[in-house]
Amino acid sequence: MDADVIIAGAGPTGLTVATELALAGVRPIVVEALDVRSGQSKAMNLQPRTAELFDLRGLLPDAGEHAIGRIDGGHFAGVSLDYTALDTRYPYQMGVLQARVEELLEDRLGGLGGDLRRDWRLIGFEQDDEGVTVHGPETLRARCLVGCDGGRSTVRKLLGVAFPGTDATRWNTVADVILGAGTARPPAGWSSMGQARRRRPDGTFASVVPIGEPGLYRFVYSGGDADEPTTAEVTDRFHLFYGDEYELVDIPYASRFGNAARQAEKYRVGRVFLAGDAAHVHLPIGGQGLNTGVQDAFNLGWKLAAVLTGQVPDGLLDTYETERHPVGASVLANVRAQSAVQGPDPGNTALHDILTTLLALPDANRVTAGMISGLGVDYGGPGHVGTRLPDFRTGTGWASELFHTGHGVLLATREDHLAPALPYHGRIVSALVDALPWDDVEAVLVRPDGYVCAAAPGEDVKGPLRAWFGAAECSSANI
Ligand SMILES: Cc1cc2nc3c(=O)[nH]c(=O)nc-3n(C[C@H](O)[C@H](O)[C@H](O)COP(=O)(O)OP(=O)(O)OC[C@H]3O[C@@H](n4cnc5c(N)ncnc54)[C@H](O)[C@@H]3O)c2cc1C
Repeated sequence: MDADVIIAGAGPTGLTVATELALAGVRPIVVEALDVRSGQSKAMNLQPRTAELFDLRGLLPDAGEHAIGRIDGGHFAGVSLDYTALDTRYPYQMGVLQARVEELLEDRLGGLGGDLRRDWRLIGFEQDDEGVTVHGPETLRARCLVGCDGGRSTVRKLLGVAFPGTDATRWNTVADVILGAGTARPPAGWSSMGQARRRRPDGTFASVVPIGEPGLYRFVYSGGDADEPTTAEVTDRFHLFYGDEYELVDIPYASRFGNAARQAEKYRVGRVFLAGDAAHVHLPIGGQGLNTGVQDAFNLGWKLAAVLTGQVPDGLLDTYETERHPVGASVLANVRAQSAVQGPDPGNTALHDILTTLLALPDANRVTAGMISGLGVDYGGPGHVGTRLPDFRTGTGWASELFHTGHGVLLATREDHLAPALPYHGRIVSALVDALPWDDVEAVLVRPDGYVCAAAPGEDVKGPLRAWFGAAECSSANI
């Protein structure tokens, strides 16, 4: 075998899967069609749950250093959501450009000895009982393949997995623009997005946000067709929304994106998995695409490592699809709803106004903010099981610091509750804490991706330990 896992695509999803595997001592090779990282203007935000996940791996300070700003909250179809209602250390969106996220993940992967091969396009593969043979500029063999190769995924197509959904019916445009002074100062910080957002009576909208370099902004507007935008069109739309408020000096890049919404029917076929845009595409409204992909990757990475290192039977890998497919479906549903509210019909404007009133209600805000931020994800189970562990002070530090090694974590307020983790030495981090986030719980067992697997009052964690982390002794690889 050339590697344990081959990952197609060095976007944020593929790089996250790779870093998770490398952290667990599993050898990934990432193959990427592009010879250099794309600088295209795409995602520019870490939603609170993604920030928490990066924090679990000690990646957040690096991300913070690259941040161009922050937005205090989120939005649903342009209606503001107050994230401070959520129980998180990060009740805001950190403004980190997608290219920066990829760069920091690539650096982390390099530090862990991961292998990234650029200018390497996957063109075919076959799987058999022992592994997967992948074809490109060379032939590589590994035990598993993960398709993180974006919305037009070759892996998904070759697998023959259906990708049902709807084609684009409406188009938006994104352009990188250079702005001069004009009559008003363009917004200086990413957090001032609200000031530079425009909505016209016909329901069309636009926004201008700074993206790092002096004078460089991202201009997004609704409208257009399937054809790529011309400079004349972008100039015209800019003046329509902003008049001579800001001076448009140059348009180095412009592209169209539509409201197509599709989701792969399966996320796993044998030894091959799909994650990120390869598994779901939708309008980037509310800033959820990259974030959902990175969260897929955190869910899959540790499970794949646990099975490949012989800790847990293969069945654990089926939970990747049972947990993440519903999350993808729910993101597609909220994006479709947002897209409908932003339509050109006068009824859409009325709906937008009603939503503005409703989302000001604390309960409505909390539920919707939970959905867009990723913090509301619940994989199901009794009590707190299936929800994420909110970060908290343990008495010696933050609970999140205990996850830096990528292991599962057992936390308890009584020493005897930690005993079941003893046979899992080196695989489970256990710690005595002053208190847990919930008064009715004395011990909580948490997966490497931060989701709770046992937290019922008085519950014996031995059963969940075995179910999620396998027997105390490892066998050889289970897939
Ligand atoms: C205009 C725009 C704005 C957006 N804004 C946001 C936002 O604010 N927030 C947000 O969360 N999301 C946003 N998104 C969505 C976000 O960009 C995507 O969801 C994200 O890029 C998905 O990451 P990925 O790694 O799954 O796929 P990709 O980023 O598409 O990466 C796939 C990689 O696979 C490579 N590849 C493809 N085929 C092959 C092959 N055969 N062999 C090898 N390599 C291959 C590609 O070159 C690429 O590098 C936006 C998207 C657009 C277009």
